[in-house]
Amino acid sequence: MSLRVILLGAPGSGKGTQAKRLAASRALCHLSTGDMLRGAVRARTPIGIEAERFLDAGRLVPDDMIVGMVRDRIRAADCAAGFVLDGFPRTVPQAEALDAMLGEVGTPASGAIHLKVDPEVVVSRIAGRRGCRACGTPYHVDYAPPTVEGVCDACGGAVVQRADDEADTVRRRLGVYDEQARGLIDYYTEKETLESVDGSQPLEAVAAAIEAIVDRWSEG
Ligand code: AMP
Repeated sequence: MSLRVILLGAPGSGKGTQAKRLAASRALCHLSTGDMLRGAVRARTPIGIEAERFLDAGRLVPDDMIVGMVRDRIRAADCAAGFVLDGFPRTVPQAEALDAMLGEVGTPASGAIHLKVDPEVVVSRIAGRRGCRACGTPYHVDYAPPTVEGVCDACGGAVVQRADDEADTVRRRLGVYDEQARGLIDYYTEKETLESVDGSQPLEAVAAAIEAIVDRWSEG
C-alpha cells in the first residue's frame, strides 16, 4: 500500500531530518515546501522572487502559492508511489486543500505524525543549523558539520546560516507556528489520523517511533 505521510512539528523539531530518513527508508518522495521555496528563490523563478520577502521575514507565504507548488509535485510521476510531506500543510486551509487534491487523485493521506518538542530545545537546535548557499545541503555545527568548516561537502559552496534562522526571525517563526499548530492538530485529531511522537528523544529513537507508526499504516 502506498504511503502518504504528513509530518507536523515546529521549526527545529527535527521534521526535515526525519522526513528525509523516512522517505529514503520507504522509497517515498520527500516533499519539503521550505526546500522547494528556497530552491525557487535561488533559481530566481517568478514564485521564488515573490516568496523571498516572506521567507526572509519568517512569515508564511500565501496559501494559494504553496498549494499550487504542492499540487504539481504530488501529481508528478516520481511521487506516484507515495510521499512524505515536510512543512505542509501549515494552516487549516492548506490541510483542506491537501484533502481536496488527494481526493481528486483517489488516494487519501495515510495520516499525520506530530513531532512534539520543548520550545527551548527547538531554539538551541536552530541556533546551530547551517546550510549550503549554493545547493541547500543542510548541516549543523554540533550534529552534522561539513568536513571542512564553512565548505559544502556536496558542491564546495559556502556553508552559512539561513537568514531566517537568525534569532529574531526564529522567534517570529515559532510564534507563527504556535498560532497555526493548534488548528492543524485539531483538524487531524478530528479525522482520527493523528499520531504523536516525542521529538526531543535522540534522532534514532524518534526515527524508530515513526517507523513503527508507518508500519501500522502500511498494514492497515
Ligand atoms: P521551513 O524550511 O519548513 O522551516 O520553511 C521555511 C519558510 O518557508 C517558512 O518560514 C515560510 O516562509 C515558508 N514556507 C514553507 N512551507 C510553507 C507552507 N506550507 N506555507 C506557507 N509558507 C511556507
